[in-house]
Amino acid sequence: MLQSRLLCLRFLSLHTYSFTSIRQEPPSFRVGRNAESSICIWIVIIYAMMQTLKVKLDTSAENNRALLETMHQFNAACNYVGEKAFELHTANKIELQKIVYRDIREMFGISAQMAVRAISKSCEAYKRDKSIKPKFDPNGAVIYDQRIMSWKGLDRVSLLTLDGRIMLPVVICDYHAPRLDRIRGQADLIFQNGTFYLCVVVDVPEPKKFVPQNVLGVDLGIKNIAVDSSGEEFSGEKIEKVRSKIDNLKADLQSCGTDSAKRHLKKLSGKEARFHRDVNHCISKKLVAKAIDTSSAIVLEDLSGIRERITVPKAQRRKQHNWSFYQLRQYIDYKAAIAGVPLICIDPAYTSQECPICHLISRSNRPTRDEFSCVCCGFSGPADTIAARNIAARVSVNMPIVARLFAELQAHPFREG
Ligand SMILES: [Zn+2]
Repeated sequence: MLQSRLLCLRFLSLHTYSFTSIRQEPPSFRVGRNAESSICIWIVIIYAMMQTLKVKLDTSAENNRALLETMHQFNAACNYVGEKAFELHTANKIELQKIVYRDIREMFGISAQMAVRAISKSCEAYKRDKSIKPKFDPNGAVIYDQRIMSWKGLDRVSLLTLDGRIMLPVVICDYHAPRLDRIRGQADLIFQNGTFYLCVVVDVPEPKKFVPQNVLGVDLGIKNIAVDSSGEEFSGEKIEKVRSKIDNLKADLQSCGTDSAKRHLKKLSGKEARFHRDVNHCISKKLVAKAIDTSSAIVLEDLSGIRERITVPKAQRRKQHNWSFYQLRQYIDYKAAIAGVPLICIDPAYTSQECPICHLISRSNRPTRDEFSCVCCGFSGPADTIAARNIAARVSVNMPIVARLFAELQAHPFREG
Protein backbone atom coordinates (compact mmCIF):
# COMPACT_ATOMS: atom_id res chain seq x y z
CA MET A 1 0.00 0.00 0.00
CA LEU A 2 1.52 3.26 -1.09
CA GLN A 3 0.94 6.32 0.94
CA SER A 4 2.90 9.45 0.56
CA ARG A 5 2.43 12.09 3.15
CA LEU A 6 3.67 15.60 3.35
CA LEU A 7 6.02 15.45 6.28
CA CYS A 8 7.77 18.70 6.72
CA LEU A 9 9.27 21.68 5.08
CA ARG A 10 12.94 21.44 5.29
CA PHE A 11 15.09 24.50 5.06
CA LEU A 12 18.61 23.81 4.06
CA SER A 13 20.86 26.70 4.49
CA LEU A 14 24.29 26.26 3.05
CA HIS A 15 27.32 28.42 3.22
CA THR A 16 26.75 29.98 -0.16
CA TYR A 17 23.64 28.21 -1.31
CA SER A 18 20.21 27.81 0.04
CA PHE A 19 17.02 26.33 -1.10
CA THR A 20 13.74 25.14 0.22
CA SER A 21 12.57 21.63 -0.27
CA ILE A 22 9.75 19.38 0.67
CA ARG A 23 10.41 16.03 2.11
CA GLN A 24 7.86 13.41 1.43
CA GLU A 25 7.66 10.51 3.75
CA PRO A 26 6.84 7.63 1.55
CA PRO A 27 6.08 4.05 2.05
CA SER A 28 7.92 1.36 3.88
CA PHE A 29 9.11 -1.16 1.35
CA ARG A 30 9.93 -4.74 2.06
CA VAL A 31 12.94 -5.59 0.06
CA GLY A 32 14.92 -8.68 -0.88
CA ARG A 33 15.08 -11.64 1.39
CA ASN A 34 15.72 -9.66 4.50
CA ALA A 35 12.04 -8.93 4.60
CA GLU A 36 12.03 -8.51 8.37
CA SER A 37 13.61 -5.13 8.00
CA SER A 38 11.26 -2.86 6.17
CA ILE A 39 13.18 -0.16 4.40
CA CYS A 40 12.05 3.36 4.44
CA ILE A 41 12.82 5.50 1.45
CA TRP A 42 12.87 9.24 1.58
CA ILE A 43 12.21 11.19 -1.51
CA VAL A 44 13.28 14.76 -1.77
CA ILE A 45 11.42 16.97 -4.18
CA ILE A 46 12.53 20.49 -4.66
CA TYR A 47 9.82 22.93 -5.57
CA ALA A 48 11.28 26.38 -5.18
CA MET A 49 14.89 27.24 -5.12
CA MET A 50 17.11 30.11 -4.45
CA GLN A 51 20.81 30.14 -4.98
CA THR A 52 23.40 32.57 -3.75
CA LEU A 53 25.99 33.78 -6.21
CA LYS A 54 29.22 35.40 -5.14
CA VAL A 55 30.14 38.17 -7.57
CA LYS A 56 33.39 40.10 -7.51
CA LEU A 57 33.39 43.88 -7.41
CA ASP A 58 35.90 45.79 -9.48
CA THR A 59 37.02 48.48 -7.04
CA SER A 60 39.54 51.32 -7.21
CA ALA A 61 41.76 52.19 -4.23
CA GLU A 62 39.39 55.01 -3.39
CA ASN A 63 36.33 52.66 -3.56
CA ASN A 64 38.18 50.17 -1.38
CA ARG A 65 38.82 52.77 1.27
CA ALA A 66 35.18 53.90 1.26
CA LEU A 67 33.83 50.34 1.42
CA LEU A 68 36.23 49.28 4.15
CA GLU A 69 35.44 52.30 6.26
CA THR A 70 31.72 51.60 5.86
CA MET A 71 32.27 47.95 6.73
CA HIS A 72 34.22 48.81 9.90
CA GLN A 73 31.64 51.33 11.09
CA PHE A 74 28.77 48.98 10.29
CA ASN A 75 30.32 46.17 12.32
CA ALA A 76 31.27 48.52 15.15
CA ALA A 77 27.59 49.50 15.25
CA CYS A 78 26.65 45.80 15.30
CA ASN A 79 28.95 45.31 18.29
CA TYR A 80 27.35 48.22 20.10
CA VAL A 81 23.86 46.83 19.47
CA GLY A 82 25.04 43.34 20.48
CA GLU A 83 26.26 44.70 23.79
CA LYS A 84 22.91 46.36 24.47
CA ALA A 85 20.99 43.24 23.45
CA PHE A 86 23.09 41.15 25.83
CA GLU A 87 22.80 43.67 28.63
CA LEU A 88 19.03 43.99 28.29
CA HIS A 89 18.43 40.31 27.47
CA THR A 90 16.39 41.12 24.42
CA ALA A 91 16.53 40.10 20.79
CA ASN A 92 13.49 42.16 19.92
CA LYS A 93 14.44 44.37 16.98
CA ILE A 94 11.73 46.96 17.50
CA GLU A 95 12.51 47.35 21.17
CA LEU A 96 16.24 47.61 20.53
CA GLN A 97 15.79 50.03 17.68
CA LYS A 98 14.06 52.48 20.03
CA ILE A 99 17.06 52.34 22.36
CA VAL A 100 20.06 52.27 20.03
CA TYR A 101 19.01 53.81 16.72
CA ARG A 102 19.94 57.41 17.50
CA ASP A 103 23.17 56.37 19.23
CA ILE A 104 24.53 54.26 16.42
CA ARG A 105 23.68 56.81 13.76
CA GLU A 106 25.53 59.50 15.67
CA MET A 107 28.45 57.39 16.91
CA PHE A 108 29.21 55.50 13.72
CA GLY A 109 27.89 57.89 11.07
CA ILE A 110 25.92 55.21 9.25
CA SER A 111 22.76 55.85 7.24
CA ALA A 112 19.27 55.23 8.58
CA GLN A 113 18.75 52.04 6.62
CA MET A 114 22.22 50.75 7.48
CA ALA A 115 21.43 51.30 11.16
CA VAL A 116 18.31 49.18 10.74
CA ARG A 117 20.36 46.42 9.07
CA ALA A 118 23.00 46.56 11.82
CA ILE A 119 20.32 46.15 14.49
CA SER A 120 18.87 43.25 12.55
CA LYS A 121 22.25 41.53 12.12
CA SER A 122 23.01 41.87 15.83
CA CYS A 123 19.59 40.60 16.91
CA GLU A 124 19.87 37.55 14.68
CA ALA A 125 23.27 36.71 16.17
CA TYR A 126 22.08 37.19 19.74
CA LYS A 127 18.97 35.10 19.06
CA ARG A 128 21.13 32.16 17.95
CA ASP A 129 22.89 31.95 21.29
CA LYS A 130 21.72 34.13 24.15
CA SER A 131 24.46 32.94 26.49
CA ILE A 132 27.17 34.95 24.76
CA LYS A 133 27.54 38.59 23.81
CA PRO A 134 27.57 38.80 19.99
CA LYS A 135 30.91 39.97 18.67
CA PHE A 136 31.55 40.98 15.08
CA ASP A 137 34.75 41.08 13.11
CA PRO A 138 35.51 44.58 11.75
CA ASN A 139 35.57 42.96 8.29
CA GLY A 140 32.29 41.11 8.81
CA ALA A 141 29.59 41.16 6.14
CA VAL A 142 27.53 44.30 5.53
CA ILE A 143 23.93 43.62 4.60
CA TYR A 144 22.69 45.66 1.65
CA ASP A 145 19.00 45.79 0.88
CA GLN A 146 17.27 47.51 -2.02
CA ARG A 147 17.21 50.86 -0.24
CA ILE A 148 20.98 51.12 -0.09
CA MET A 149 21.93 49.05 -3.12
CA SER A 150 20.68 49.25 -6.68
CA TRP A 151 21.62 47.41 -9.82
CA LYS A 152 22.31 49.43 -12.94
CA GLY A 153 21.86 46.85 -15.64
CA LEU A 154 23.60 43.58 -14.87
CA ASP A 155 27.16 44.76 -14.83
CA ARG A 156 27.13 47.63 -12.37
CA VAL A 157 25.86 48.08 -8.86
CA SER A 158 25.50 51.18 -6.75
CA LEU A 159 26.26 50.83 -3.05
CA LEU A 160 25.80 53.33 -0.26
CA THR A 161 28.95 54.13 1.74
CA LEU A 162 29.73 56.69 4.41
CA ASP A 163 30.85 58.97 1.54
CA GLY A 164 27.59 58.55 -0.37
CA ARG A 165 26.71 56.18 -3.18
CA ILE A 166 29.43 54.69 -5.34
CA MET A 167 29.02 52.90 -8.65
CA LEU A 168 30.97 49.66 -9.00
CA PRO A 169 31.51 47.42 -12.02
CA VAL A 170 30.68 43.77 -11.35
CA VAL A 171 32.97 41.00 -12.55
CA ILE A 172 30.87 38.02 -13.54
CA CYS A 173 31.69 34.91 -15.53
CA ASP A 174 29.65 33.78 -18.54
CA TYR A 175 28.26 30.86 -16.58
CA HIS A 176 26.68 33.01 -13.92
CA ALA A 177 25.70 35.94 -16.14
CA PRO A 178 22.30 34.58 -17.28
CA ARG A 179 21.22 34.13 -13.66
CA LEU A 180 21.82 37.71 -12.65
CA ASP A 181 18.53 38.90 -14.10
CA ARG A 182 16.79 36.91 -11.39
CA ILE A 183 18.33 38.77 -8.48
CA ARG A 184 16.16 38.78 -5.39
CA GLY A 185 16.22 41.16 -2.47
CA GLN A 186 19.24 41.80 -0.35
CA ALA A 187 22.92 40.99 -0.69
CA ASP A 188 25.89 40.63 1.65
CA LEU A 189 29.00 42.66 1.00
CA ILE A 190 32.04 40.63 2.06
CA PHE A 191 35.77 41.28 2.04
CA GLN A 192 38.11 38.36 1.36
CA ASN A 193 41.83 38.50 0.75
CA GLY A 194 41.75 42.15 -0.23
CA THR A 195 38.78 41.83 -2.59
CA PHE A 196 35.16 42.86 -2.17
CA TYR A 197 32.38 40.50 -3.22
CA LEU A 198 28.61 40.69 -3.19
CA CYS A 199 26.70 37.55 -2.28
CA VAL A 200 23.42 37.93 -4.14
CA VAL A 201 20.40 35.69 -3.97
CA VAL A 202 18.93 34.62 -7.32
CA ASP A 203 15.97 32.48 -8.28
CA VAL A 204 16.85 29.21 -9.91
CA PRO A 205 14.60 28.30 -12.85
CA GLU A 206 12.40 25.27 -12.39
CA PRO A 207 14.22 22.12 -13.37
CA LYS A 208 12.94 19.91 -16.14
CA LYS A 209 10.57 17.15 -15.03
CA PHE A 210 12.50 14.00 -14.65
CA VAL A 211 11.07 10.55 -14.06
CA PRO A 212 13.94 8.20 -13.31
CA GLN A 213 14.40 5.02 -15.29
CA ASN A 214 17.40 3.76 -13.32
CA VAL A 215 19.12 4.30 -9.99
CA LEU A 216 22.64 5.32 -9.08
CA GLY A 217 23.55 4.19 -5.57
CA VAL A 218 26.24 6.16 -3.75
CA ASP A 219 28.14 4.98 -0.69
CA LEU A 220 29.95 7.64 1.30
CA GLY A 221 33.03 6.70 3.29
CA ILE A 222 36.45 7.72 4.45
CA LYS A 223 39.05 6.03 2.30
CA ASN A 224 36.83 6.40 -0.70
CA ILE A 225 34.87 9.58 -0.13
CA ALA A 226 32.21 8.28 -2.48
CA VAL A 227 31.76 5.12 -4.50
CA ASP A 228 28.85 4.68 -6.89
CA SER A 229 27.03 1.52 -7.88
CA SER A 230 28.74 1.47 -11.29
CA GLY A 231 31.99 0.93 -9.40
CA GLU A 232 33.50 4.41 -9.86
CA GLU A 233 35.53 5.46 -6.84
CA PHE A 234 36.19 8.99 -5.66
CA SER A 235 39.26 8.47 -3.59
CA GLY A 236 40.12 10.32 -0.42
CA GLU A 237 43.84 9.79 -0.99
CA LYS A 238 44.59 13.24 -2.36
CA ILE A 239 42.69 14.75 0.53
CA GLU A 240 44.67 12.71 3.02
CA LYS A 241 47.95 13.91 1.51
CA VAL A 242 46.95 17.55 1.70
CA ARG A 243 45.56 17.08 5.18
CA SER A 244 48.68 15.50 6.60
CA LYS A 245 50.79 18.22 5.02
CA ILE A 246 48.57 20.88 6.59
CA ASP A 247 48.58 19.01 9.92
CA ASN A 248 52.37 19.00 10.07
CA LEU A 249 52.50 22.67 9.24
CA LYS A 250 49.89 23.41 11.90
CA ALA A 251 51.81 21.49 14.55
CA ASP A 252 54.97 23.46 13.72
CA LEU A 253 53.12 26.77 13.86
CA GLN A 254 51.36 25.90 17.12
CA SER A 255 54.63 25.03 18.83
CA CYS A 256 56.04 28.32 17.57
CA GLY A 257 53.22 30.38 19.13
CA THR A 258 54.23 33.83 17.86
CA ASP A 259 51.71 36.35 16.52
CA SER A 260 52.85 35.75 12.99
CA ALA A 261 52.46 31.98 13.49
CA LYS A 262 48.90 32.56 14.71
CA ARG A 263 48.13 34.58 11.62
CA HIS A 264 49.49 31.82 9.45
CA LEU A 265 47.39 29.26 11.32
CA LYS A 266 44.25 31.21 10.58
CA LYS A 267 45.12 31.44 6.91
CA LEU A 268 45.82 27.74 6.84
CA SER A 269 42.44 26.74 8.20
CA GLY A 270 40.79 28.84 5.48
CA LYS A 271 42.89 27.07 2.89
CA GLU A 272 41.93 23.64 4.19
CA ALA A 273 38.22 24.49 4.14
CA ARG A 274 38.46 25.81 0.59
CA PHE A 275 40.22 22.66 -0.51
CA HIS A 276 37.49 20.48 1.03
CA ARG A 277 34.81 22.55 -0.61
CA ASP A 278 36.49 22.22 -3.97
CA VAL A 279 36.77 18.43 -3.68
CA ASN A 280 33.14 18.14 -2.59
CA HIS A 281 32.00 20.33 -5.48
CA CYS A 282 33.90 18.15 -7.98
CA ILE A 283 32.55 14.86 -6.64
CA SER A 284 28.95 16.05 -6.42
CA LYS A 285 29.13 17.54 -9.91
CA LYS A 286 30.39 14.26 -11.42
CA LEU A 287 27.75 12.19 -9.63
CA VAL A 288 24.89 14.40 -10.77
CA ALA A 289 26.22 14.48 -14.35
CA LYS A 290 26.32 10.69 -14.34
CA ALA A 291 22.75 10.51 -13.04
CA ILE A 292 21.58 12.79 -15.86
CA ASP A 293 23.44 10.76 -18.50
CA THR A 294 21.90 7.52 -17.30
CA SER A 295 18.40 8.90 -16.44
CA SER A 296 18.94 7.80 -12.89
CA ALA A 297 17.69 8.83 -9.51
CA ILE A 298 20.52 9.22 -7.01
CA VAL A 299 20.18 6.99 -3.98
CA LEU A 300 22.03 7.85 -0.80
CA GLU A 301 22.07 6.59 2.73
CA ASP A 302 20.19 8.72 5.19
CA LEU A 303 23.12 10.39 6.86
CA SER A 304 21.58 11.35 10.16
CA GLY A 305 23.88 9.84 12.71
CA ILE A 306 26.69 8.94 10.32
CA ARG A 307 29.31 9.82 12.89
CA GLU A 308 27.99 7.27 15.32
CA ARG A 309 27.48 4.66 12.68
CA ILE A 310 30.75 4.54 10.83
CA THR A 311 33.20 2.80 13.05
CA VAL A 312 36.76 3.84 12.52
CA PRO A 313 40.05 3.23 14.28
CA LYS A 314 40.94 5.87 16.86
CA ALA A 315 43.73 7.30 14.73
CA GLN A 316 41.21 8.11 12.05
CA ARG A 317 38.73 9.85 14.32
CA ARG A 318 40.02 13.32 13.60
CA LYS A 319 39.86 12.73 9.88
CA GLN A 320 36.36 11.42 10.21
CA HIS A 321 35.30 14.36 12.29
CA ASN A 322 36.91 16.81 9.94
CA TRP A 323 35.76 15.29 6.76
CA SER A 324 32.58 16.91 5.85
CA PHE A 325 30.15 14.22 4.77
CA TYR A 326 27.41 16.65 5.49
CA GLN A 327 28.80 19.21 3.08
CA LEU A 328 29.14 16.66 0.28
CA ARG A 329 25.61 15.52 0.94
CA GLN A 330 24.34 19.10 0.72
CA TYR A 331 26.21 19.71 -2.52
CA ILE A 332 24.73 16.57 -4.06
CA ASP A 333 21.33 17.70 -2.78
CA TYR A 334 21.32 21.10 -4.40
CA LYS A 335 23.11 20.12 -7.61
CA ALA A 336 20.62 17.29 -8.11
CA ALA A 337 17.77 19.69 -7.35
CA ILE A 338 18.94 22.24 -9.92
CA ALA A 339 19.24 19.53 -12.55
CA GLY A 340 15.87 18.04 -11.58
CA VAL A 341 17.47 14.71 -10.62
CA PRO A 342 15.43 12.92 -7.94
CA LEU A 343 17.26 12.16 -4.74
CA ILE A 344 16.23 9.20 -2.65
CA CYS A 345 17.52 8.46 0.84
CA ILE A 346 17.34 5.00 2.29
CA ASP A 347 17.87 3.56 5.71
CA PRO A 348 21.51 2.47 5.64
CA ALA A 349 21.03 -0.62 7.81
CA TYR A 350 23.24 -3.52 6.66
CA THR A 351 24.11 -2.03 3.26
CA SER A 352 27.73 -2.88 3.96
CA GLN A 353 27.10 -6.42 5.23
CA GLU A 354 24.53 -7.78 2.81
CA CYS A 355 25.51 -10.08 -0.05
CA PRO A 356 23.95 -8.72 -3.28
CA ILE A 357 23.68 -12.26 -4.70
CA CYS A 358 22.31 -14.48 -1.91
CA HIS A 359 21.22 -11.62 0.41
CA LEU A 360 22.91 -13.10 3.47
CA ILE A 361 23.56 -10.40 6.03
CA SER A 362 26.59 -11.06 8.17
CA ARG A 363 29.45 -9.22 9.73
CA SER A 364 31.68 -12.06 8.56
CA ASN A 365 31.00 -11.01 4.97
CA ARG A 366 33.53 -8.24 5.63
CA PRO A 367 36.83 -9.96 6.48
CA THR A 368 38.64 -6.62 6.12
CA ARG A 369 37.50 -3.03 5.81
CA ASP A 370 38.03 -2.90 2.05
CA GLU A 371 36.99 -6.36 1.10
CA PHE A 372 33.64 -8.12 0.80
CA SER A 373 33.47 -11.88 0.66
CA CYS A 374 30.20 -13.71 1.22
CA VAL A 375 30.54 -16.58 3.69
CA CYS A 376 27.55 -18.33 2.12
CA CYS A 377 27.88 -18.13 -1.67
CA GLY A 378 31.49 -16.94 -1.95
CA PHE A 379 30.68 -13.77 -3.92
CA SER A 380 33.44 -11.22 -3.40
CA GLY A 381 34.50 -7.74 -4.45
CA PRO A 382 35.49 -4.27 -3.20
CA ALA A 383 33.39 -3.55 -0.11
CA ASP A 384 32.48 0.06 -0.95
CA THR A 385 31.25 -0.80 -4.45
CA ILE A 386 29.11 -3.60 -3.07
CA ALA A 387 27.65 -1.25 -0.47
CA ALA A 388 26.77 1.19 -3.28
CA ARG A 389 25.16 -1.63 -5.26
CA ASN A 390 23.10 -2.61 -2.22
CA ILE A 391 22.02 0.99 -1.74
CA ALA A 392 20.88 1.14 -5.37
CA ALA A 393 19.21 -2.28 -5.16
CA ARG A 394 16.95 -1.24 -2.30
CA VAL A 395 15.33 1.23 -4.64
CA SER A 396 15.70 -0.47 -8.01
CA VAL A 397 13.63 -3.50 -6.98
CA ASN A 398 10.82 -1.05 -6.45
CA MET A 399 11.56 1.05 -9.51
CA PRO A 400 8.08 0.91 -11.08
CA ILE A 401 6.58 2.10 -7.80
CA VAL A 402 9.23 4.76 -7.33
CA ALA A 403 8.81 6.05 -10.90
CA ARG A 404 5.05 6.24 -10.47
CA LEU A 405 5.41 8.00 -7.13
CA PHE A 406 7.72 10.57 -8.72
CA ALA A 407 5.37 11.16 -11.61
CA GLU A 408 2.53 11.70 -9.13
CA LEU A 409 4.56 13.96 -6.89
CA GLN A 410 5.67 16.07 -9.80
CA ALA A 411 2.12 16.41 -11.02
CA HIS A 412 0.76 17.31 -7.59
CA PRO A 413 3.66 18.31 -5.35
CA PHE A 414 1.44 19.60 -2.56
CA ARG A 415 -1.20 16.93 -2.48
CA GLU A 416 -1.47 14.58 0.42
CA GLY A 417 -2.26 11.14 -0.78
ZN1 LIG B 1 26.25 -14.51 -0.94
